[in-house]
Amino acid sequence: MGSDCLFCKIIDKEIPSDIIYEDDKVIAFSDIDPKAPQHKLIIPRQHISTVNDLTPENNELVGHMMGVAKKLAAELGIDEKGYRLVMNCNDNGGQMVYHIHLHLLGGRRMTWPPG
Ligand code: AMP
Ligand code: ZN
Repeated sequence: MGSDCLFCKIIDKEIPSDIIYEDDKVIAFSDIDPKAPQHKLIIPRQHISTVNDLTPENNELVGHMMGVAKKLAAELGIDEKGYRLVMNCNDNGGQMVYHIHLHLLGGRRMTWPPG
């Protein structure tokens, strides 16, 4: 599973990335094309293509991704001013990489509604 997946290759360190956090369930690294002064991606080690593929068994994993995002926001010093967490799903959501990832964006004021 995931042999052709860019993010599985980042997990396996076949493709280099700026990893800032890893544990047995997730890794986090800098987005290669940042959309904000701080832009990190939190991804599960398990290959899951889209949010549509999540099952109740993944609830703890998704909660853990949120917890890691919160911890990283504090470490990056963007927690007080605020930040945005985003998961894009499929075409209309703007998903480009089909391995779920939580975007952590901060360091500037975000606009609403999103584009
Ligand atoms: P999405 O559009 O939600 O699927 O987001 C995919 C994100 O992955 C984009 O923000 C890309 O800039 C980012 N990305 C693509 N390739 C890499 C890579 N090799 N290393 C880090 N981030 C990447
Ligand atoms: Zn994958």
